[in-house]
Amino acid sequence: MSKKKRIGIIGGGISGTALGFNLSLYDDADVTLFEKGRIGCGTTAKSAGTVCLFDDSLNNRYWDVRLYGFETYLKMERERKGSAGFDKTGTLVCATSEKEVDRIKAGIALAESAGYTGEYITDKARIKQILPMLNTDTILGAGYTADDGYFDGTMISNTFAQKMEANGGTILRGADVTEIVIENGTAKGVKTADGDRYDFDVVVDCTGPWSRFTGEMAGLDVPIWHTKAEAFFVVPPEKHLDYVFPILKFPAFYALRAGNNIFICKSHLSMNLDDPMHAGQWDPDRLPEREGTDDYFIDFLFHQFEKNVPGLTDAGLNSSWLSYRAETRDFLPIVGDTPVKNYLLATGYGGNGVIEAPAVSRDLAKYIMRGESTLLLEEWAFSRLLKDKGE
Ligand SMILES: Cc1cc2nc3c(=O)[nH]c(=O)nc-3n(C[C@H](O)[C@H](O)[C@H](O)COP(=O)(O)OP(=O)(O)OC[C@H]3O[C@@H](n4cnc5c(N)ncnc54)[C@H](O)[C@@H]3O)c2cc1C
Repeated sequence: MSKKKRIGIIGGGISGTALGFNLSLYDDADVTLFEKGRIGCGTTAKSAGTVCLFDDSLNNRYWDVRLYGFETYLKMERERKGSAGFDKTGTLVCATSEKEVDRIKAGIALAESAGYTGEYITDKARIKQILPMLNTDTILGAGYTADDGYFDGTMISNTFAQKMEANGGTILRGADVTEIVIENGTAKGVKTADGDRYDFDVVVDCTGPWSRFTGEMAGLDVPIWHTKAEAFFVVPPEKHLDYVFPILKFPAFYALRAGNNIFICKSHLSMNLDDPMHAGQWDPDRLPEREGTDDYFIDFLFHQFEKNVPGLTDAGLNSSWLSYRAETRDFLPIVGDTPVKNYLLATGYGGNGVIEAPAVSRDLAKYIMRGESTLLLEEWAFSRLLKDKGE
């Protein structure tokens, strides 16, 4: 019998568990995942989990990545209801410029090509039927689909983890990786806080915002910044909405229903990595479970309400939280090989990890097991960021 390839994954968020599951589909893979807390307890737990058929979060160039993610979760949900935590609210994407109109219309065409519904609406009365509290004076029109919605990243991670274990993979929960063993410039394994050493042929770092620190264990400067994801839950003045509040997307912010409340957050692409209020390099272990948000963001979002969603201006603040999105300079993830042999990354998913993890993990697992790369892996390789630095 041929020897199995031993792969160690650090991190049990959506990145690590999706990769673990995809690797476990190869019968010559021996996969072990290390999660220092609980599965899906990191950034993934704080995610809005939107996977919209067309919005601006991920360029239409990567539309297949979006579709693959969406359909992976729909199938998961069909296999066992609730296993992806799908809430089918639909999405309303508001266009504030002609460029946005073109992008939305292209997105609708792509969605229709895959068999989903989508329409670009300029009739303001019809837009208000979908979301009565919207101010339609500030928009040119809106793209609408009833087919998508948001998922629960933690549920998805746990479902991937269960599937991985059912396929023979191992998950070590509460296992804090404190050292990456490097010999002659090659990753050989990891050590955990309890002193145990595990040997691997390949180590994949899936620690999201922690990868700055785990990267250092491998002697690597992982070029990610933490953008502040400040999420606020507001209570609409009517308290109980008698219509389905869709995911609402504006270029600068988005909103979605969360029970009887509305979740709002500044969009990740509107974050400026050079603005210390927006981004920095911080320690994710110091993030509080709840609150920790800045007044700047709530002021900014309420200003957006006044202008665009006046029906929410009198909303009360229910709760809030702060999390870090691990972003690269081009807001695309870092996937695959690094300058340290056999130490790979699947990190920097920023504000799109739920959308991107299924397609990336499918391709990365094939690369690890068969050495076959894909266009996606080539475009999202670590080497592109070295080029940016002129190396
Ligand atoms: C407010 C908010 C809204 C978002 N909305 C969306 C959205 O609508 N759509 C979308 O696609 N994405 C969204 N995202 C982004 C998405 O949630 C992230 O891209 C994704 O969750 C990142 O997953 P990850 O697995 O890379 O990182 P994480 O979920 O942070 O997982 C990393 C894991 O590594 C573990 N770890 C760290 N160090 C170690 C160690 N030394 N040893 C062992 N384990 C370790 C941590 O405990 C953690 O569980 C949002 C994010 C936020 C914060």
